[in-house]
Amino acid sequence: MVLTQLPRFQYLVFKGPPPNLNFFPKPKLPIKVTCPTLFSAPKSTLSTTEPIPISQFSVSEEPRVEISLDKLFVPPETEVSFDDPNLSTRILKGSNIVVSKYAREAQVLQAEFVKSSVRTEDCPSDGLPEFALVGRSNVGKSSLLNSLVRRKRLALTSKKPGKTQCINHFRINDNWYLVDLPGYGYAAAPQELRTDWSKFTKDYFLNRSTLVSVFLLIDASITAKKIDLEYASWLGQNQIPMTLIFTKCDKRKKKKNGGKRPEENVSDFQELIRGFFQTAPPWIMTSSVTNQGRDEILLHMAQLRNYWLKH
Ligand code: GDP
Repeated sequence: MVLTQLPRFQYLVFKGPPPNLNFFPKPKLPIKVTCPTLFSAPKSTLSTTEPIPISQFSVSEEPRVEISLDKLFVPPETEVSFDDPNLSTRILKGSNIVVSKYAREAQVLQAEFVKSSVRTEDCPSDGLPEFALVGRSNVGKSSLLNSLVRRKRLALTSKKPGKTQCINHFRINDNWYLVDLPGYGYAAAPQELRTDWSKFTKDYFLNRSTLVSVFLLIDASITAKKIDLEYASWLGQNQIPMTLIFTKCDKRKKKKNGGKRPEENVSDFQELIRGFFQTAPPWIMTSSVTNQGRDEILLHMAQLRNYWLKH
């Protein structure tokens, strides 16, 4: 058995109330409730009885993720049986996302920059489905975009002068778009400009009919920032489909330094926003350093896209 075949995360799926199969988030007034923890303490992920060379144990100390059934993201037209012993194998690694029959054609074969737009009305009008990447400056958005398309410098296009405040469209395989939106919360930007950015992206979220889902990037190596919570809750309240992409999950700060582990930050973030969503939004843990989560994001995008195209 080789190391790459070992699961990075092992899921324990708890029985619980049946998941609500709604695809899109529903706005809800924030309520204070306690929820079971999403994550357990780190444990060995090895579940095989095969003998494994000692050297493999030393590098396989990934945390085990525990998710209760009501915290799973179940795509539409997907059956989840509480008694299915194979349910854990149908959940994307490092996420709460169940794989559906629409998960196919996920590979990126071709990627090209198409245009920068300053208004929603100026965006491409060919009706192809799209996913918008948004997050605080420095969250790792360009790194993730490059990692998704396996090109070292494609995202540089939207970092060129004059384009950082634009809606930048990248066409993938000639049949869907990745959209790079301006980073928010850039401390050095004048207050007036910061407000404009937020008005501008909110208009795009509310009016872009081909937007399948926003991918909101959150830095999992630090504790939740107010501006990220505001963004996530705004998307929830406005029923904009959203996937949380937790970045920099390779950065494992030691507790004695006051830092929390990425799993704890991911769990805390869910808890802080859960009042704004009737069902748990999909989330994926990623790292552009190790490429953790890259294939999972692409498969999730494929299943959302293929469902969107059929309806
Ligand atoms: P952007 O401003 O959101 O486009 O962020 P960048 O992609 O330019 O990344 C900002 C900084 O975070 C850079 O120094 C990257 O090298 C670093 N970074 C980005 N992604 C990761 C990651 O997954 N892990 C780690 N450790 N660092 C990252």
